[in-house]
Amino acid sequence: MDKKKIKIPVPKTRRTWKINPVTRIKSSGKIYDRHRQKAEHRETLPPPPEDALPGGRKREAGFRFCPKCGASLALKKMNGRKRLVCSGCGFIFYQNPVPAVAAIIPSGEKIVLVRRAEEPLRGHWCLPSGFMELNETPAECAVREVKEETGLDIRVKELFGANIARDDPRTQVVLIIYLTEMVGGELQAGDDASEAGLFGPGDLPGDIAFATHRRAIAEYFGGVNEQNSGS
Ligand SMILES: [Zn+2]
Repeated sequence: MDKKKIKIPVPKTRRTWKINPVTRIKSSGKIYDRHRQKAEHRETLPPPPEDALPGGRKREAGFRFCPKCGASLALKKMNGRKRLVCSGCGFIFYQNPVPAVAAIIPSGEKIVLVRRAEEPLRGHWCLPSGFMELNETPAECAVREVKEETGLDIRVKELFGANIARDDPRTQVVLIIYLTEMVGGELQAGDDASEAGLFGPGDLPGDIAFATHRRAIAEYFGGVNEQNSGS
């Protein structure tokens, strides 16, 4: 065999790139470096959109990012109202009040109040109340919240009132207040109530949380007093 005829394969020279293909793909947006992206993201966080209040004051609109796609939200005027609109997908993030239910539970001359075990306004007293859950009627919410906070079983008698509450720092609330009737159970504080007690118009605690609760209690006892004085 003629050695000269043996061909030794020459290894192909490694291909070189002016731009690393990974970099090329990254810069083309196909692959994202998560750390770089996060760092850049932090630097570019927009200030939260601000809503103008009367008197030229500003207030944070509460949300910065779209809950659907994560792009930043901006306030846009739509039909005379400012709405949070997503700059990415156009989602309109409507800000609506949250329904909550409170119960007036009479017992003789008195009504049941509970002491708040949680913030906001921990230690203050209020009507047994709470936020409505999905797939729950307002009356079911009243029965559930009263059971959780007071141990009492109630029956909803009639709608006492409904009003907007702007003094809850968590959210704007529509409070639905029912006049109810105690039908069972034993008064015992539970869930997010640290105490439960009976109070009449002459011995109401001084620290009652939320204007809507104070107004409803005053209206209830005012109505009771008017009925008594009229008879
Ligand atoms: Zn979006």
